[in-house]
Amino acid sequence: MMKSAEIRDAFLKYFAEQGHEVVNSSSLVPGNDPTLLFTNAGMVQFKDVFLGAEKRPYSRATSSQRCVRAGGKHNDLENVGYTARHHTFFEMLGNFSFGDYFKRDAIRFGWEFLTKVLGLPAERLWVTVHISDDEAADIWLKEVGVSADRFSRLDEDNFWQMGDTGPCGPSSEIFYDHGADVPGGPPGSENDDLDRYIEIWNLVFMQFERQSNGELVPLPRPSVDTGMGLERIAAVMQGVHSNYEIDLFQALLRAAATATGTSDLENKSLRVIADHIRSCSFLVCDGVLPSNEGRGYVLRRIMRRAIRHGHKLGQTNSFFHTLVAALVEQMGDAYPELRQHQAQIEKVLLTEEQQFAKTLDKGMAILEDSLAGLDGSVIPGETVFTLYDTYGFPVDLTNDIARERSLTLDLDGYESLMEAQKARARASGSFKMDYTANLSLEGTTEFLGYTHLEESGKVQALFKDGEKVSQLNEG
Ligand code: ATP
Ligand code: MG
Ligand code: MG
Ligand code: MG
Repeated sequence: MMKSAEIRDAFLKYFAEQGHEVVNSSSLVPGNDPTLLFTNAGMVQFKDVFLGAEKRPYSRATSSQRCVRAGGKHNDLENVGYTARHHTFFEMLGNFSFGDYFKRDAIRFGWEFLTKVLGLPAERLWVTVHISDDEAADIWLKEVGVSADRFSRLDEDNFWQMGDTGPCGPSSEIFYDHGADVPGGPPGSENDDLDRYIEIWNLVFMQFERQSNGELVPLPRPSVDTGMGLERIAAVMQGVHSNYEIDLFQALLRAAATATGTSDLENKSLRVIADHIRSCSFLVCDGVLPSNEGRGYVLRRIMRRAIRHGHKLGQTNSFFHTLVAALVEQMGDAYPELRQHQAQIEKVLLTEEQQFAKTLDKGMAILEDSLAGLDGSVIPGETVFTLYDTYGFPVDLTNDIARERSLTLDLDGYESLMEAQKARARASGSFKMDYTANLSLEGTTEFLGYTHLEESGKVQALFKDGEKVSQLNEG
């Protein structure tokens, strides 16, 4: 059985043998893109190379990139605990061609890695291409010999773009069929979002640059950007269906079970906690601190969501920070910076737990009261607002509780109470943070490291804004 770490190594080794430069994962805080919340794909650190604005001494690269998909465009936070395949934090294995090889080699490499290096049976794989992409279809069907029964042409799902403008192109996706005992249909069918056919690898043929008027202009040098989720391919290689059953997650689930006094390892809340400890630890490791806006607020939302799930399991003491040790044990070799910052990460997590503990109990009691008197299935905007404003419950946390009980939130009612509060604050001339703009990002920040403040004992992260070194203290 191949361990996750062995799959990561095999991937990088295979692509190194095919002439690719092995490049380290970049930070979760994108250094080159202030419009992007978190690094959400392997291509992010190469964006300017694809655009031709930056030159590298190599034209082929491979990486295992740490990614976070929470908040922003790709947001999988709400999927965690509900699907077998989505995490807030995951590792994306990728190979990249900067105007070097194109479709034929990208497809050949992908197929060879899956069927020869990993030895997966072709009958379990399903391939899709863009409806317009005859070239890729011919390579798959005529050259590689993929069966027409396990091949489909799709539209939007197979056109990838970085954003409203920028590099883009048709893509080809490879799925693994987890077998007839799992509900779900093949790609393009009605039930394709159920977890029988799980997308493992996405090959993007970067062929165009989309202009602001929407026009597609051919790139001078067609390129390749691919991404394969390490946890998904590990599940396939370890013969399990859900990502949470792989080696790495089993260790985290056991640690979470111990920390919360839970015996059932399949408990949904344990999965959420095991997922969230990874995103929270790595975000803090990369210099993000919990706060009320921007990246820090997304971190706070993930942390509080995890803490609430621990509370649901009956753990009323601080527990979340104790899981960092188990994570370091699992991932500290691949990411030495995690081990290096362990103490700071624990401290930041513990501080947030202590802070939220002050209001979590009371907030839950308020919510239960409101639910007891509920007529219908919609939680009133006023409850959502009070929980948010007085008890520090991010709206998605309240929504997570609502979803568990098949209830929904009156978001319009909540929004109008927020507006009214802002208007009052403006009228009184007092400064009030604009919580609704909490995804806005200021200028590019480069993380320099941590320092401890002697007197207060607080952890501070050092950031560099242009030439000015500033200290953020949001603990
Ligand atoms: P899905 O359709 O399953 O949500 P996607 O098409 O959004 O996946 P891509 O943007 O193509 O995913 O990312 C490339 C690869 O990264 C995917 O094929 C998958 O293996 C992996 N991946 C994407 N999102 C996640 C996630 N939230 N957790 C774990 N792995 C992921
Ligand atoms: Mg997705
Ligand atoms: Mg997809
Ligand atoms: Mg995809």
